[in-house]
Amino acid sequence: MKRIIGYLCLIILSLTACGGTESPSAAQPTLQPVATGTIAAPAVPTATATPVSLAPKPENERAVVAEIQRVVDVRFKALNNDDFDTYMSTIDQTNLSFKRAMSDYFKSPFQGGALKGSGASGKVTKITFMPKPYDEFVKVALTTSRTGGAEQNWNWVYRYVDEHWLHSEPEEYEVLGDRVDKDTGTIIVRYYHWDDGVIDREIAWLERGIKEAAAAIGKQPDKKLRVYVSPTFQTHPGRAGAGKIAFYSPDVKDTVYVRSFDSFGAYYTSAGDPLGENMVDDVRHETIHLLNDEITPLVKMLSWMSEGLAVYLGEGPSSQKLRLDRLQSAWRQNRVYSLKEMHRIDVLADQNPDKYDVVLGEYSQGLAYVQYIFEKYGGADGFWKLAKAQAKALKFSEAVVNAFGVTEDQFEQGWKDWYVAKYKP
Ligand SMILES: [Zn+2]
Repeated sequence: MKRIIGYLCLIILSLTACGGTESPSAAQPTLQPVATGTIAAPAVPTATATPVSLAPKPENERAVVAEIQRVVDVRFKALNNDDFDTYMSTIDQTNLSFKRAMSDYFKSPFQGGALKGSGASGKVTKITFMPKPYDEFVKVALTTSRTGGAEQNWNWVYRYVDEHWLHSEPEEYEVLGDRVDKDTGTIIVRYYHWDDGVIDREIAWLERGIKEAAAAIGKQPDKKLRVYVSPTFQTHPGRAGAGKIAFYSPDVKDTVYVRSFDSFGAYYTSAGDPLGENMVDDVRHETIHLLNDEITPLVKMLSWMSEGLAVYLGEGPSSQKLRLDRLQSAWRQNRVYSLKEMHRIDVLADQNPDKYDVVLGEYSQGLAYVQYIFEKYGGADGFWKLAKAQAKALKFSEAVVNAFGVTEDQFEQGWKDWYVAKYKP
């Protein structure tokens, strides 16, 4: 069973939602072209090195806002036009992990790809010059929108590189060595001083999410839970891609990993998603995995069972609705997976990323299976009966007979009948 990078919570739908109309600037924005082939590795910095700018950095706030707005305009125009090279010219190429994440973001049909022809745009609303030792950077508050969608508010990070402000984030060497372990009494939070301005609010949301997860699953963690808050892609364990916001690893057990606010693509606020709600959702989802693992080992369960449970018990109504809407549209397009495909969904996704959609399979269809189990087979008791039978038999065709007294085919047909009756696709 393939579990190399643990359990990933892909908050992909939220990343693709922008909305509104924007006025692209009249003048065709251009940036200095950046080589897009092999990029020479930057000089290896020492632990104490200070990054060097090649040109004086503008300090005038209005000038900086105007320049960053220009770069933001180029970015969104490139996303709308599906123009990879121009898009990448707005990214700091010296930070290789950020560059890779941004490249993945562009290519993902659920993220940058979803903005093609969408009328997406971004407006810089405020910048904050970071204090030493982070004074190479500014935090940029911006509001994104796209035609027909709600506005969303984000904080991105820009850095002055080669006479341009480019979308970036600090390198690991610039924030590492700077970690803090804070015992809040209920959890231990590891974060970086980079996040000093947001960490107290984040801790309140993390504690709330963990408490709600324990209530939903009916179990407290075996030991004090740790949360690692990563401010950058590079500091996120496994150097996860742009869609991977939070995660739990069965190899580590007592720890949940989340991305911090103000790290690209992780979190936003909008009218329907007040500050913190998305982070609460994520940490609740990952804590369900952690507690599930303490009840029945995740590695002995099928991924649709554990992801379905984490969505069912861990995610809020709006997040669940987005996932069920995706299943509904897949059903109408006749793209729903067979149960046997679902058992192997993570492997299939690796082998054939274009054909199979792991997010639809594990999260949306998994949610609908778990919903069915809770409704038809006695709630949580039924679910754990099946999970334990699966962990013992390691074969769903046997587990489902042992737990529910039905064959795999009967279970699958029962689910389809239930789905049609409930959701009328
Ligand atoms: Zn998950």
